[in-house]
Amino acid sequence: MTEGTLLSVRNLRTWYELRKWGFLRAGYVRAVDGVSFDLGRREAVTIVGESGSGKTTLAKTLLGLVAPTDGEMDVAGRRLDGAKGKALSWIRSNVGFVQQDPYGALPPFMNVRRILSEPLDIHKVAKHEREQRIRDVLKEVRLIPAEDYLHKYPHMLSGGQQQRLVIARSLVLDPKLIVADEPVSMLDASVRVEVLQLLRNVQEEHELGVIYITHDLSTVRYFSEFAFVMYAAKLVEKAEVKELIHNPLHPYSQALLTAISDPDAENAKIIKEVPAGEPPSLVHPPPGCRFHPRCKHFMDGLCDVEEPPAFVPVSGHEVECWLYREGEGAQGGTSEESA
Ligand code: SF4
Repeated sequence: MTEGTLLSVRNLRTWYELRKWGFLRAGYVRAVDGVSFDLGRREAVTIVGESGSGKTTLAKTLLGLVAPTDGEMDVAGRRLDGAKGKALSWIRSNVGFVQQDPYGALPPFMNVRRILSEPLDIHKVAKHEREQRIRDVLKEVRLIPAEDYLHKYPHMLSGGQQQRLVIARSLVLDPKLIVADEPVSMLDASVRVEVLQLLRNVQEEHELGVIYITHDLSTVRYFSEFAFVMYAAKLVEKAEVKELIHNPLHPYSQALLTAISDPDAENAKIIKEVPAGEPPSLVHPPPGCRFHPRCKHFMDGLCDVEEPPAFVPVSGHEVECWLYREGEGAQGGTSEESA
């Protein structure tokens, strides 16, 4: 872990045990399976992938809500895997969480003041500081003037205001890192960009690390410098956002760009060809490359046998695909070839 690293994740695995008749072990769901990455202080990264790719389990593991099966996680030099007691409490106060469904995330019987004061009570923040903290975070998420909101209950707020309140709650303990799991997918299209912009502003002002998890590549450019593509529990491609949008290398990333629905998406290249088939089972993932049953570049005897390691065909751009092994170049096709 280097000095500028906020979060370091190494070979992280989160497997859920399957049981038959309640006691016989019937296998494992490999929801996160060998994920590694670093996030610098004040950096934002988007993790993009379709449903069932393991994104939410990765978020829960980073938040300490699910214990990893294997691997290492450090935040600001503190080891998080296997955290219990005080270490877990430290995660709760230093890693904020913005959930997908703001209404479901907010207790319906608490008003705004109670929702924001609860984490301050739990983490024993001095009483004389609490009111000011609550007013500061409401101001930051632009729920102002505070008097208009402090006594309201979640059902009295619009969807966008509820999500602003969830963001305020994630900030109230002054965390170092925020994990936002599909934070705008349940909001009206008209407020999505606004809420993402708010998250971005908060990230810059507080110098936070942010992990933004989404299935929608079209929102990536509003948010982060870096993007990782997740497929079947693995990060198959990592690059700067602009590089990924201009030059997606993994056949799955190329297909994902079809998800860009915004016709004004700056320089976005829309791929017409979506691979047939469904994401694979995480209980019995295919051998070799997990994308091989859907991949039009599939190489018999290689892709279905050996798992591809990470190749770096372009500086700062990592991809797990045999097309980029030394001597193969980028023959798998960039977006330009496939479009
Ligand atoms: Fe396709 Fe093979 Fe690359 Fe997997 S390793 S994405 S099957 S070309």
